[in-house]
Amino acid sequence: MILQLEKGLAKEKLQQLVSKLSDNGFSTSEVQTQFNHYLVAIGKKEVDIRSIGQLEGVRDIHRVDDAYKLVSRKWRVHDTSIAFDNGVTIGRNSLSIVAGPCSIEGEAQTLKTIEHLNANGLRMMRGGVFKPRTSPYAFRGVGLNGLKEVSALCRANGTLLVTEVMQVSQVAEMHDYVDIFQVGTRNSQNFNLLDELGKAGKPVMIKRGFSGTIEELLNSAEYVFSAGNEKIILCERGIRTFETAYRNTLDLNAVPILKEKSHLPVFVDPSHGLGIRQFVGQMALAAVMAGADGVILEVHNCPERAMSDGQQTLDFTEAARLYGQLKATWELRNSFNGQF
Ligand code: PEP
Ligand code: MN
Repeated sequence: MILQLEKGLAKEKLQQLVSKLSDNGFSTSEVQTQFNHYLVAIGKKEVDIRSIGQLEGVRDIHRVDDAYKLVSRKWRVHDTSIAFDNGVTIGRNSLSIVAGPCSIEGEAQTLKTIEHLNANGLRMMRGGVFKPRTSPYAFRGVGLNGLKEVSALCRANGTLLVTEVMQVSQVAEMHDYVDIFQVGTRNSQNFNLLDELGKAGKPVMIKRGFSGTIEELLNSAEYVFSAGNEKIILCERGIRTFETAYRNTLDLNAVPILKEKSHLPVFVDPSHGLGIRQFVGQMALAAVMAGADGVILEVHNCPERAMSDGQQTLDFTEAARLYGQLKATWELRNSFNGQF
């Protein structure tokens, strides 16, 4: 059960509620986010929720029988969205396009990317400064100093920055220079990191683990929400299967299922999902058709010279063509009004 509490509820009243629920066989977790105050109550016994709902301090009460609670659409039926100070909104009636290099390489590359984004009316750039690489000898990113430089360039241009955080200690270090923290596929179930990002309060995009189920992804999001942060984006980025003809198997089935199960915005990363530049565009369009709220794309001024993932990275011309097609596909999907 989720109990939404009255704002500014006094401690004693909260304690009374907790005791009452405990008497009814429920253990409770208090959740205070940037927006609301909740009690999540877990128990086996059937209880008449109206009797709990009438208790002092309870604004609203919902029964949610999923393992995850606060991220479930069973209690919050409308799509949630994330609004930024520069006017950008993610989710609910808007298509988000995030584009940029796999790895941030330096000032010149960043400026070229921002110029490309501006020319195409885009306001969100991706780019890793801490890179989780399969081989320890591969390029591992420009690190915190690089992030500070990139962040300054992004701020000067009104561009939001999405970048990966790999460990708990980086959350505080990166906090002031990041607009959206990306949790990579390898850290999708790093619960300490998710907890810390819950406390940090900045938007978090959680990628699905490459061996992670949809339920596991939703539980990862529940970690962030229950630690205090409602600003969460889910991201399908391909899973590992028996197939070897492409880097990962982009599971577009996940999109309508996630949208049905959760109120959170859903992005798709076809660059990692497929790993083959030539087909990234059409899979990005398929993602929009499947119901995605946004796509995140690897784009570089010269993919052949990219420090990582050049094989799946679009050049600026290919990317610009795709942005137009994405918007046209978004319009087409909207014209269906949810009827397929
Ligand atoms: C990335 O986006 O650069 C990245 C490493 O993604 P993933 O965690 O999905 O592999
Ligand atoms: Mn990459």
